[in-house]
Amino acid sequence: MDCREAEHIIWTEGPDAVTAEHLIGCPSCRNESRRAADLQAALIGMRNRFAMPPVELERMIVEAVTRTRLDRARDIVSHPKFWRGAAVGAAAAAGVAGAALGVMAARRRVARPEVA
Ligand SMILES: [Zn+2]
Repeated sequence: MDCREAEHIIWTEGPDAVTAEHLIGCPSCRNESRRAADLQAALIGMRNRFAMPPVELERMIVEAVTRTRLDRARDIVSHPKFWRGAAVGAAAAAGVAGAALGVMAARRRVARPEVA
């Protein structure tokens, strides 16, 4: 498993879906996995407190996707497994995904330089 594959799995199937073997030997993917786990934990924490995705959640997602590549950001919002891992209801996940896509589109219009 290479890093590209590992990161894809982290952001689609969830932070625990990558083999421990790779994470042990790869600080970069270990960090990526921790960020994904943090985001999932935050989603779980917010689920019971908010009927609608709050502004704070949108900020977190923007932060997550801007620190990754845009294709991976699309993976996050388009793969249901990640959201299921966070135990977020389908309606809430759809709302969050819609918000994230809207923000990503807005950021692209601003045309900030991408850090790969
Ligand atoms: Zn790696």
